[in-house]
Amino acid sequence: MKVIATPSRTKEILEKHNLYAKKNYGQNFLIEPGIVSKIAAAAVTAGKCVVFEIGPGIGALTQMLSKEADKVVAFEIDERLPEVLADTLADCDNVEVVLQDFLNIDLKEVTKPYLDEGYEVVVAANLPYYITTPILFKIFEADAGISQITVMMQKEVADRFAAKCNTKDYNALSVITQYRCTVKNVLKVPKNVFNPKPNVDSAVLQFRFKENDPTINEPMFYKLVKGCFTQRRKTLLNNLFETIGDKELARKVLTDSGIDPARRAESCGLEEFIGLYRSVE
Ligand code: SAM
Repeated sequence: MKVIATPSRTKEILEKHNLYAKKNYGQNFLIEPGIVSKIAAAAVTAGKCVVFEIGPGIGALTQMLSKEADKVVAFEIDERLPEVLADTLADCDNVEVVLQDFLNIDLKEVTKPYLDEGYEVVVAANLPYYITTPILFKIFEADAGISQITVMMQKEVADRFAAKCNTKDYNALSVITQYRCTVKNVLKVPKNVFNPKPNVDSAVLQFRFKENDPTINEPMFYKLVKGCFTQRRKTLLNNLFETIGDKELARKVLTDSGIDPARRAESCGLEEFIGLYRSVE
């Protein structure tokens, strides 16, 4: 089997199929096999595992995932690509390509048959950068039985997802993500391993879902966290006052949860936000 993720093979495939990378679909194809195999190895769990891949492109990552997993289901939006993938992945008999916008699929419906058959369902992707956050939030909110997500994204965005408190990258997105998942840095990826070369560096992150806490109403918790970060330079008291509309009440819930009202949201860890939520509740 010829490895797809090399500069020469990628060029050969693009020429053979008269293809060019479409910018509006965020197409940057991986051309470094060492990096692709590391992503695949990190993404696939031991045991009976199905990988849902978002955006297989010409199959660079799909091919390596197919070696590691029992089954790969790859969702691609570009209607030129299923025919190309039928050619490049002709040897991979455990891959199914679905021509569909990932943002439009019913995740619960597509994972259910695999969960019923005892598969662990994971997600892997070299994400199209223009829709990284909508894709991840779709998965975070779907409650579709997916156990982990291993994805490449723009490095600056990865830094925000993984940020710890008291850093410049820490924001509501970091808190909400880290409430739902354990976030692990897997790999940093330089620009020169793609064709075409993007303008930014990338990083691979892994999100592993935590157990749901049934005592927390997630939409309410998310609204509270976002409210606390509305204006970064403002104190928690002022941001919370704008969210709940009563200054004395805002002061009381902060004090009751042991947080100095003069602090800023960026100094609060996840456990403090949970404490604040309980106090507001
Ligand atoms: N996996 C390939 C690789 O690593 O070389 C291609 C990655 S490329 C950065 C992103 C891929 O996602 C492209 O193939 C693009 O067509 C596809 N894509 C973009 N938007 C999509 C969407 N909404 N649903 C599914 N695929 C999408």
